[in-house]
Amino acid sequence: MGPFELTGRVALVTGATSGIGAATAALLAERGAHVLVAGRDRTRGEAVVAGIRDRGGRADFVAADLRTAESVRQLAGEAVGAGGGRVDILVNNAGVYPFGPTEQVPRDEVDTVYDLNVKAPFHLVAALAPAMAARGHGAIVNVSTMVAEYGVSGMALYGSSKAALNLLTKAWAAEFGPRGVRVNAVEPGPTRTESTVGMGEALDALAAEAPAGRPAAPEEIAEAIAYLASDAASFVQGAVLPADGGRTAV
Ligand code: NAP
Repeated sequence: MGPFELTGRVALVTGATSGIGAATAALLAERGAHVLVAGRDRTRGEAVVAGIRDRGGRADFVAADLRTAESVRQLAGEAVGAGGGRVDILVNNAGVYPFGPTEQVPRDEVDTVYDLNVKAPFHLVAALAPAMAARGHGAIVNVSTMVAEYGVSGMALYGSSKAALNLLTKAWAAEFGPRGVRVNAVEPGPTRTESTVGMGEALDALAAEAPAGRPAAPEEIAEAIAYLASDAASFVQGAVLPADGGRTAV
């Protein structure tokens, strides 16, 4: 088994019904993992699962709305059940990214962004990482964003939520790393997904600022996530890996 292989591992991917999460679920399954596809939309989730099974992979859908601590805890329990008693890899990918002037952000949107982008990963790690640590191995990958690194007008709420996730990544690496659980993050740049399709030229304009000069395909972000989830990254802990076409380097 090569270092990129994930045979025998159970991987929970949140937000796997769409975009980067769906591409990640497909890639982890291709590398041999039993993937638990999480999201709210059963139709899209079952389609992702069917695609994986058609290619000979192993996957199951677990439905969950991640906006409350209770439902996050419930997802963790169901995932452990579906995984035959354990989750070895957790990809905290589900997230929302509404943009706009600070004074126009609705109050409930402030809550939703932090509930999904910060609190859901927090509660999932609290529920799953201790058992990984008790077994002596595990990998957690948080999906952040390049705009957690610098200030962008209209992205204060979103960028700050992912900046919190970046620090959680490092703090969890310190907390769980000594017991064999590696915790890392990926910071994607503009990526063409179901949700960014509507951004049209704005996505291209953002992408044009980077050396790559184009938006990513979700599969390119999935490669970075799968690397960090695998033994190929065995000495990588607490890293926040830009997968942004070089934007934060220039
Ligand atoms: P997407 O296509 O909009 O998919 C978002 C996923 O999150 C969906 O699977 C959705 O599933 C799930 N989700 C949304 N609300 C949820 C809720 N209340 N409870 C549970 N699941 C929920 O997203 P994406 O563009 O692939 O982005 C994925 C991640 O990458 C996000 O964290 C985003 O911040 C980050 N990112 C994206 C880009 C980009 O340009 N696309 C760039 C940088 C970072 P259901 O609808 O089935 O619930």
